[in-house]
Amino acid sequence: MIYFDNAATTKVLPEVLEKMMIYLTEEYGNPSSFCELGQNSKSAIEEARKLVARSIGAKPNEIYFTSGGTESDNWAIRGAAYLGKKTKKTHIISSQFEHHAVLHTLESLKQDGFEITLLPVTSEGFVEIEKLRAAIKKETALVTIMFANNEIGTIQPIDEIGKICRENNILFHTDAVQAVGKLEIDVNKSNIDMLSISGHKLHAPKGVGALYIRSGINIPSYIYGGGQEQKKRAGTENVASIVGFGKAVEIAINNIDKNNEYVLKLREQLIDYILRNISKTRLNGSRQKRLPGNINISFEGIEGESILLMLQKYGICASTGSACTSGSLDPSHVLLSIGLCHEIAHGSLRLTLSQLNTQEEVNKLKEVLPNIIKKLRDMSPIWNYNKNTDNL
Ligand code: PLP
Repeated sequence: MIYFDNAATTKVLPEVLEKMMIYLTEEYGNPSSFCELGQNSKSAIEEARKLVARSIGAKPNEIYFTSGGTESDNWAIRGAAYLGKKTKKTHIISSQFEHHAVLHTLESLKQDGFEITLLPVTSEGFVEIEKLRAAIKKETALVTIMFANNEIGTIQPIDEIGKICRENNILFHTDAVQAVGKLEIDVNKSNIDMLSISGHKLHAPKGVGALYIRSGINIPSYIYGGGQEQKKRAGTENVASIVGFGKAVEIAINNIDKNNEYVLKLREQLIDYILRNISKTRLNGSRQKRLPGNINISFEGIEGESILLMLQKYGICASTGSACTSGSLDPSHVLLSIGLCHEIAHGSLRLTLSQLNTQEEVNKLKEVLPNIIKKLRDMSPIWNYNKNTDNL
């Protein structure tokens, strides 16, 4: 199998699994127990906390382990909303192309009476600083803008957003699920107050992640019960996954430059090849300011799902900007937010590469993709009707 869907999830690295196995076998103590086994588990969690903290320039006591990106986003946003309400600040600013973990949380807060402003993004997928400035009110409690977009990979002007939030005394949360381990992050330099991370996007297992909360910000507890995670997120810890998460973050950070250089080369080669060899295609998102492994391309006249089915025949796994994950027939809200019409948004393919991909795999895709697109277009009534007009 050739796996080009690393933004959806990643393979657990052997070193990560090896480290985890110890905590699923011999070291099975409960971190809250005083016996030696328990204390060994506790130390392993604290070691992982240090590694995660170091990766974003935070202090270990500012890292809270969670079940992943979705929980971290929910906690940060609902927590900030609750804090804001105490001082009659009930306005939240975000963007139209956030992940659903953010958008649906905001939707639920809207039902509870909060005012939500969703900033539009540019045709390349950037939040505009002037629009952010204009949206701020005295009631604004929180700005939540993602670090990098999961579908089109654009990297947002995080430093400028953080600066504006700090100047206006507004909390700033960023969903950095796609960015950690791939981009340099320093929560202090960028004035970030809360940041969401997910393990399974960086070669750790699914179901583990973290929320960074700047010390001094009194975000309320998310899950009530025991005293775990500084009494903020109760429940016996997922020790093995936390340990694996720490190891995966450590490996990612230690290899960040090497991996990025490698992945970027493969990405650029593939983008060039596709745009040069297949007509009526467009790259979605910025060419420069995008995640190293992200490619998102629209092919006029065909459906993304049919490209995926054909790729699957060759054992190639990728993703599309349209419906399949949400289970609806709507095209991706991200692609619509950058101004694509429904038809073009439906014909989009997302290829997300990691350091585990090889040149041979890229060559295989280069070999099969032009023929797949040609075959699908030959069968497509939309293509045959539109092929002499330019809709991109
Ligand atoms: N935020 C972004 C930007 C994501 O890409 C994802 C996963 O696709 C999430 C949040 C949700 O993370 P998790 O799968 O860990 O809940």
